[in-house]
This record gives sequence, C-alpha cells and structure tokens, in this order.
Amino acid sequence: MKPSNYELLVVSPFQPIALLRDTFKHVTCVKSAKEALVRLQTQQQQHQDPTTTTTDRSRRLLLIDMENEQGNIISLKLLIYHLRQGTVGNFVPLVCCANDSSDYMLACIHHGAADYLLKPLSLNVIQTMFLAAHRYSPPQRLLPSPTSSTASLKSDLPQAIQSECHHYHQLKQIFNQHDGIYQAVINMYANPNRPKKEFDLASLSTDRKTALERRLGEWGFNPFDLSDLDLVYCVSWIFDQAFHLPDLAPFRLSSGDLCHGYHATNPYHNFYHAVDVLQSMYYLVSRMGFLHPHPPAPTTTSRLHNRITSIDILALFLICIGHDLGHPGVTNAFMINASTSLSLLFNDISVLESYHAMLLYRLIKTYWSDALGAPLGALFRKRVVNGVIATDMALHQDYMTKLKAFGRTSIDDKDGKPYDEEEERLLIYAALIKCADISNIARPFEVAKVWANRLVEELQCQGQLEAELGLPSCLNGFGLPLDSKGQIPLAAFQHQFITKVGIGFFDVVGDIVPDLKNWAHMARQNASLWQQQQ
Ligand SMILES: [Zn+2]
Repeated sequence: MKPSNYELLVVSPFQPIALLRDTFKHVTCVKSAKEALVRLQTQQQQHQDPTTTTTDRSRRLLLIDMENEQGNIISLKLLIYHLRQGTVGNFVPLVCCANDSSDYMLACIHHGAADYLLKPLSLNVIQTMFLAAHRYSPPQRLLPSPTSSTASLKSDLPQAIQSECHHYHQLKQIFNQHDGIYQAVINMYANPNRPKKEFDLASLSTDRKTALERRLGEWGFNPFDLSDLDLVYCVSWIFDQAFHLPDLAPFRLSSGDLCHGYHATNPYHNFYHAVDVLQSMYYLVSRMGFLHPHPPAPTTTSRLHNRITSIDILALFLICIGHDLGHPGVTNAFMINASTSLSLLFNDISVLESYHAMLLYRLIKTYWSDALGAPLGALFRKRVVNGVIATDMALHQDYMTKLKAFGRTSIDDKDGKPYDEEEERLLIYAALIKCADISNIARPFEVAKVWANRLVEELQCQGQLEAELGLPSCLNGFGLPLDSKGQIPLAAFQHQFITKVGIGFFDVVGDIVPDLKNWAHMARQNASLWQQQQ
C-alpha cells in the first residue's frame, strides 16, 4: 500500500503545505473541527452503501493542525468523541504542532491522537504518516443511545434475542465505564488537582549535580536538606544508571510525576522516603555488581548473580520509588477500622499497598507500555504489583518463612523440586524491596534517628485522629506503655522493631545476598544505641 493511496483530511486554518499534496493523492482541507465533522458525517452516510468496504475507510488520515493548543485539544476531543460514537466512520487521527513540550504531546496522545508530528513537517515525516494507520487501534465505540436506530429496531426482534442483546449491551456499558472507580479513587485519595511544580533539572549547576551524585553513592545518604528539585534529580540520576544497561534504551521516566504522587505533608510516607528507599536499592544493587558503584567500590557476588537482568533492576527501582505512591499517612489498620472506601474496595487485604500498586501501574501504562510490549508488559505488571504488595508488614512472617527455606536450599531446589523461575524472581524482589523499605534503621544513627522521629510523629497524628473518631488507637498497637505525654516511647519503639523485625530479616536475606549481613550489623549497632537511650 503506497502512502499516496491514503486519503488525507487536514483540519487547519492555514493552507496545507505543498509537500502534503505531493505525497497524498487526495488531500482535503477544512478550517475547523466542525467543518471536518460535517464532511466526515456526509461521507459516513455515503459509506452506508454496502458496496463500500471498511478497508477504504481505514485508509483515511485526519491531520489536525494544533495551532492553538486550548482550542484544538477541544477539537481533538470532539472528533474522537464522534469517532467513538460511530457517527463519523473510521479515520486515523493525527495531530501536528510546533509545541515540543512532552506533557502537551502526551496529552494529545491521551486524548486519542494516533501520533504527534512536530511542525514544521518535513518530507520524511509526511512520507511515513501512513504508517500510523497500521499501528493505530481505533477507540472502543460507545453504546448507541436508546433513541438510535438500533434501539428502535430491537422491538422487532424475538424475545430471546432481545434479552441476549440487553445482556450484551449491559456488559458493554460496564466495560465502557470501567475507568470510573479507578478515577474516583484517585480523585478521593491522590488529589490530582493540586498545583504541580515544574522541575527544570537543567537549572541545577554542575557542582550541585556532582554533590548530589556523590551523596547518592554513600550509605549515610540523608535527604532532609534536599529540595524537591534536588530529589527529582536524584531519582532521574539513579534511573539513568539503569537506562544505560542493555535493553533499557527505550525507557524514559518523568521523575516530576513521581514527586507529585506523594503527599508532602506526611511526616514519614512522603517523597523523601520514596527517594531514600530507591537510594538504598541503588546502593545495594551496585554493591552486588549489577551497576557501577559511584564512586568506584568493591563489589560482591551472590547466588543471584546470573538471575537478575537489566529489566529486573528497572522494576526494582520502580517499585522502590512508587511503593508508597499516594500514601495518606495512616496505616492499613486505620483504613480498615474507619471502613474507608479503599478498605471496602480491597476487602481489607493489603489495602494501601494495593492502592499504591494501582497508582504505580497507571504511570507504567502511561509511559512504558510501548517500550515493554505485550508479553513483557503483563509480566512486568505482575512483578511490580507483587513487589509493592510485599511491603505490607502483615505479610512479613510469610516472607520470613519462605526466605528462610529459600536461603537453606540450593537455588535450584525447593523441597526436592526445582524452583519455578518466576516464583523465585518474585521472592527475590520481595526480599530486596522489603530490605530497602526498612533500610533507614541501619543508616548511621543520626540519620536513622530522624526517620524514627518522623515515623512516630506520623503515628501520633493518626492516634489523635483515631481518638477523635472513636477508633482503636494505633499507639496501643506496639505493646509498649506510652510515656507521660501519651506518646510512643521513641527509643523503646525503635529498639523493639530493630531487634524483633529488622535484624532477623536482614540476616535471613543476608544468606542469599551477603551485603545484607552488613545491614544487619549496622542495625545491631543502632539497636544498642537506642537501648542506651531508653
Ligand atoms: Zn515504604
């Protein structure tokens, strides 16, 4: 099929450029989306002639010149709406514009454009425009309205066919609206309308970038004096280390979106925590030899050496930075006791983690669905969702049991049977992400102390809210007597968590990844310092 056989309808207040006429045999130009609609609807009526085939109609390209962003996003939406309604036949919607903002380009794609062409249009671009018709999947058609001709014909159908038809339409209606709950959850908990900052990474000086990179290579990483822009740079720098790995060239990331996904008002579960968890994972995988340590440092080998691929590193980084997305600053117990919509939606099972995974998957779908492709995309989703859910501390004992067994056996043997490769991968992800999530207990004591204070502050705040709502208090959930001010005793609280949970877990994972033995050692040192403060 030659490009010249495609029919091109251009929506533009300007004259179409001559190159378009040179490439396509049939070029029609209209001034506005409304004019385009009239033309398409007229053609649609003509196409109801049974001698016209669908193939003919799918060879139509519609090029919308976005000379005015605001007006033409509306034009694009209007045309896509009619395409979904089925009132204008098939066409492949393309947009062209001189605006090179990636956000704007993505907005056009999200609103239904098959491709975004940067103006001025060159001959090369014009000659490959027809390829969009081969890549494009038309949006799902909406249901015909009850007054449409199909509905009026229904009464002539036999009863059995009518009820089958009703069931079919009801199902279709449900699936057409499947995004509704998802959007409602985001609106309720993630506040998508709050103002978003622009992060201009180019505005950071070379000295500042070098200083941040040096800090990212240190175990004593302390993010609390960093600005949001610094943190966004840290995230993009760490991901860039992964993007240099084989097979990861097509992946890119908008770190600003991740920053906006966290509530800055949470004392603990905020973007600092996400970046901190990401940095500890970066530190760990670079010491394991999967990335170059920065600055250069000795690396160790582990039994995972041939098991972790570049896509695993990417998934682990993504889980770290996204594992608490949209965190409301309260625990699962609060969500369940308060009968929040989220706990009802997820049936009280890993409520927050299910929600974080849902938000994270939304970003993956937006930015990486093309780079991942179909079979890997589904696997990647499973791994990322599983990794985020693993951070639910309610599952901790299960993971301890599984990891103890995994650490004892040879890597290829589970109760005499070989490990399923994917099952093993999910377990390794869970082990590493869980270690990274609680890694702050093993940071140098002065840094660990800040994290501990912030966690207690967040819990105290939840305790206040629980008292107001008459709910069971999280402050009584640790088996520790509250101090004279009714607060969780910080030193005892930390000592208890480190000795009963942290050290044991680092030791168990340390049987698989020897570097974790160092984390256990540092956590032990901190535990004795906390004990001295009790
Ligand atoms: Zn976390």
